[in-house]
Amino acid sequence: MTDTQTAPTGTLFADAIGRLDKAGKIAGLDPEVVELLRHPKAVIHISIPVRMDDGSLKVFEGYRVRHNSHRGPTKGGIRYHPGVSLDEVKALAFWMTCKCAVVGIPFGGGKGGVTVDPRELSHMELERLSRGFIQQVADFIGPDVDIPAPDVYTNARIMGWMMDEFSKIKRQHSPAVITGKPIPLGGSLGRDDATGRGAYYCIKELEKQRGWDPTQITVAVQGFGNGGQNAVKLLHTDGYKVVAVSDSKGGIYKADGFDVPSLIQFKNQSRKLKAVYCDGSVCEAIQAESISNEQLLELDVDVLIPAALENQITTDNAANIKAKVIVEVANGPTTPDADTSLAQRGTLVIPDILANAGGVTVSYFEWVQNRQGFYWPVEEVRERLDKIMRDEFNAVYDLMEQHKTDMRTAAYAHALKRIGDAVEAGGTQRYFTEAN
Ligand code: NAD
Repeated sequence: MTDTQTAPTGTLFADAIGRLDKAGKIAGLDPEVVELLRHPKAVIHISIPVRMDDGSLKVFEGYRVRHNSHRGPTKGGIRYHPGVSLDEVKALAFWMTCKCAVVGIPFGGGKGGVTVDPRELSHMELERLSRGFIQQVADFIGPDVDIPAPDVYTNARIMGWMMDEFSKIKRQHSPAVITGKPIPLGGSLGRDDATGRGAYYCIKELEKQRGWDPTQITVAVQGFGNGGQNAVKLLHTDGYKVVAVSDSKGGIYKADGFDVPSLIQFKNQSRKLKAVYCDGSVCEAIQAESISNEQLLELDVDVLIPAALENQITTDNAANIKAKVIVEVANGPTTPDADTSLAQRGTLVIPDILANAGGVTVSYFEWVQNRQGFYWPVEEVRERLDKIMRDEFNAVYDLMEQHKTDMRTAAYAHALKRIGDAVEAGGTQRYFTEAN
């Protein structure tokens, strides 16, 4: 099968796997490994009939993709969003394969999604949808097979419903089937802020590399949810000036920096009680200059943190991006063409597969604790996360310098080396032809 048959060019998945060739060369990868990674291992497309509160029946489309399992069971979140498509889920699953390998945790990559705007559902409709999703994929997932987690517009409560549904179907308590669960249902301490914290540890290592004084460093964050909030909360504590934040409704700017804890408090209080999702806009209560998401991305700041959705930095705006460093808390916020333009101008991009890997790392800790039936204090979780993130950041940074390349290519090369080692351990053409 040719690449074109697998993924027509111009799709998110095609763009995602397009990174393989360059990084594969640096990693000295066997061409068989690259070929394997161009194809997801398995894809399931489901429909989920949901009885709505008014008695009507609505059928939602959903997907689960297992991209690669050479290094362990597949792992990755479930997204609820109106824009979810199979192409997007495949790209997200590929990124998970690479992300787990970047931080050296024993998982392959998977991802799932439902095409839905969950903010339009009641709590009960949402629970029925979430249980329905698991009913359709129960034979496709499992603690040793494929382990979902939260992603955009899914949360701990939803993970709890899903774990409960899976346990009922299997007639076996199965906490390790899903991570990001509420703490009383087997969640890990420290999972809630792990993604933002992981990005923060990367920035702290860069701070050392660049000799930064945090009080002189300005930060803008696009997307003020789990990842974005926690990253800037920690940066603010260290004195970084968070000058702009935004959510799906728009953004705010304050040249001398926001008091991040009060921003978070307002954002979280303004959630509608009837929904479990953020529904308020940060723009409504804080006295600050309103800006659009587009303006936020083009601000003259030191650090820009895209923490919302993919394809935010494109050829349309890359030339106007003034940030010196981009820390990709979101998955896939920068398109490949935009990447080239940023690299030419010397912008350092800490890529998604490294910058947001803290979440899956603590998900791995959660899975380990579920299987041990022994739970760690939050200090232990953070200490282990801290070590992994800083070690892997520095390994990628060194590789970047050694090969005089960009940090994304270095991160892929670092990941592909680990995946390649796992594939080659089973033998590639080189081994089989030599043996004869
Ligand atoms: P979330 O649902 O908690 O928050 C998303 C935020 O983005 C919300 O504030 C929302 O209002 C905002 N948003 C949505 N559309 C936007 C737009 N067009 N412009 C600006 N803001 C917009 O989600 P999250 O968990 O923080 O995930 C955000 C990103 O981080 C996603 O790309 C996700 O895949 C990635 N990520 C999250 C985790 C995690 O553990 N939460 C882990 C790895 C990667």
